[in-house]
Amino acid sequence: MTQTQRETSAAATETGPRRVRVAIVGSGFSGMGVAIKLREAGIDDFVILERGADFGGTWRDNTYPGAACDVPSLLYSFSFAPNPDWSHAFSPQPEIFAYLRRCGQRYGLYRFARFDHEVRGAAWDETSRLWRIDTSQGQYEARVMISAVGPLSEPSLPDIPGIESFQGKLFHSARWDHEHDLTGDRVAVIGTGASSIQFVPQIVDKVGKLHLFQRTAPWIIGRSERRLSAVEHRTYQTFPLAQKAVRAGIYWSRELFVLGFAKNPKLMKVAERLSRRHLVKQVPDRALRKKLTPSYTMGCKRILLSNNYYPALSRPNVDVVTDRIVEIRPHSVVTADGTEREIDTLILGTGFHVTDMPMAQWITGRDGVLLADAWKDGVQAYKGTSVNGFPNMFMMIGPNTGLGHNSMVYMIESQLNYVLDAIKYVSRPGVSDVDVNPAAESQFNVDVQKMLEGTVWTTGGCVSWYLDDNGKNTTVWPTFTAVFRQQTRHFDSQAYEVRSTPALVDA
Ligand code: NAP
Repeated sequence: MTQTQRETSAAATETGPRRVRVAIVGSGFSGMGVAIKLREAGIDDFVILERGADFGGTWRDNTYPGAACDVPSLLYSFSFAPNPDWSHAFSPQPEIFAYLRRCGQRYGLYRFARFDHEVRGAAWDETSRLWRIDTSQGQYEARVMISAVGPLSEPSLPDIPGIESFQGKLFHSARWDHEHDLTGDRVAVIGTGASSIQFVPQIVDKVGKLHLFQRTAPWIIGRSERRLSAVEHRTYQTFPLAQKAVRAGIYWSRELFVLGFAKNPKLMKVAERLSRRHLVKQVPDRALRKKLTPSYTMGCKRILLSNNYYPALSRPNVDVVTDRIVEIRPHSVVTADGTEREIDTLILGTGFHVTDMPMAQWITGRDGVLLADAWKDGVQAYKGTSVNGFPNMFMMIGPNTGLGHNSMVYMIESQLNYVLDAIKYVSRPGVSDVDVNPAAESQFNVDVQKMLEGTVWTTGGCVSWYLDDNGKNTTVWPTFTAVFRQQTRHFDSQAYEVRSTPALVDA
């Protein structure tokens, strides 16, 4: 953030109205998307409450070495704000973060941002029909609250006995400690997910020893990485339609994965063969290859893309450990076979709280019901957006909107249509709030769960963060993304209880 932006944001905090039409919590792709669409609709009476110091969400926080997007650059951006200048086929984190900050400037969002405002509680006030939102810097009232906190924002720390006694350096991949010099360190990395496979190759030459603790071997395929040429840049700058066409091609080629994921998981065998070939080519050592061979159907967990992960694991200073960790001691990690490995630094690549969304602990709806209690039998929402008992609250990337195959920005843009339409609806004279009907919410989720039957996520033989503690898939959208786009094209007020309080509607 520039000095001017910081000043603008700070000044707005001191003098701006604390009662607003819309409060957006979170400012990653989805929070920014809502703000941009509000501005386009001529609605300026809103704030963006953000606990961090800038826009960017996950792309601001995940600064670990090698952080990059595994969705191609030309697809991973707002469709209405194309960037013809991506340097690579797959963008590194600093470029995506810079892109989002540019969007913040281009759409004039900085003056609406309240940075360093951590939301600690939000409660629906039935009398005034407003959301009362407590932040680390005071209270806000809003007619509509948009939760855009993102499902991958709260690091998940493993509950391993003794971890709190560890006396070396410890950090999570999403809170990388750049001050800490890893040179020569004996390092333990826990986890072999999308983040670890990106940072492990970047640190392997620096550290003295790297113990990589793998619980489940991921499926990995090669990444068609390359620099985008000057000719491509010029073409996209001059002919935006060419960029649109390439983007559409990438979108549809990825969309085909739904056939294997959701329609006929046997089709995944083809991709599995490609991945095995990649493994054989990159890992000559049979014993290591055996450890790295997945034992579930590809797609059940997120498919990972990497050209340098397997080669990194063949380095002499790397030890891939598949024995279960039973204890962490002040200076070591102990596994079930009794081996104790001395370490200086422990890096957690252990993912995020997804199915137990932390925001459920601080949002209270009608009759004082906590969202976590409304969700005690499982997380669910109507169209991934609305929950009965929580009027005028709309979630971005809520339950069952996640993807394993395509760009989340597509899903976000679908929801933007719906949410903006909903905001306009509750701004109509005579309307104070809308609350989704329990029957509509329930039927939607019955349909989603039915569609999930027989998909790779339920039959693939893995345990993944797509599933909650009861084995229910509350995260993944079960079919083509175009279906979601269709379902969210307009706000469907008939699925909601529409309420009016004449004395309050002009509040
Ligand atoms: P993740 O995919 O959830 O991986 C977490 C890893 O930690 C897994 O290998 C898991 O093992 C392991 N783990 C968790 N708890 C453990 C414990 N108690 N003991 C031992 N191992 C444990 O997390 P992530 O790598 O941070 O990625 C999260 C998501 O972020 C991804 O799925 C993706 O959606 C997104 N992401 C995207 C990109 C991108 O390029 N666009 C890059 C990074 C992340 P199990 O597999 O056995 O559970």
